[in-house]
Amino acid sequence: MIKRTRQKEAILRVLRSTTSHPTAEWVYGEVRKEIPNISLGTVYRNLRQLSERGEILELAFNGGASRFDSRTDTHYHFVCEKCEHVFDIDEPLHKELSESVAQKTGFQVLNYRLEFSGLCKKCLKRRGARKTRVY
Ligand SMILES: [Zn+2]
Ligand SMILES: [Zn+2]
Repeated sequence: MIKRTRQKEAILRVLRSTTSHPTAEWVYGEVRKEIPNISLGTVYRNLRQLSERGEILELAFNGGASRFDSRTDTHYHFVCEKCEHVFDIDEPLHKELSESVAQKTGFQVLNYRLEFSGLCKKCLKRRGARKTRVY
């Protein structure tokens, strides 16, 4: 039991040390520096348990591997289509959106998910640089 707690704590610590919304594989690589005999399966299991308990968020972006987030407060994500980085977007909940959907459908909206995608600043810069070289 003690060993399990230690693994979970190490996983949480690794996740909280980054804002990059890593995959389970990345977390596994980092945790292994501390607990060399940990398996990828154990990391997966612990991540799933932590997200079921609401201590972390598991994010699924179209087609890709799950990404994990130690932030559980309301915030949105921007996914770069080029480098696949996931950025936090701090935006307050837009009540007008829920209200407009509620009015149109008659449903009670309790929550909604919003996801942004496009090109991050770095990739935008790189693309711009390439463009000027072509011309
Ligand atoms: Zn990018
Ligand atoms: Zn996030």
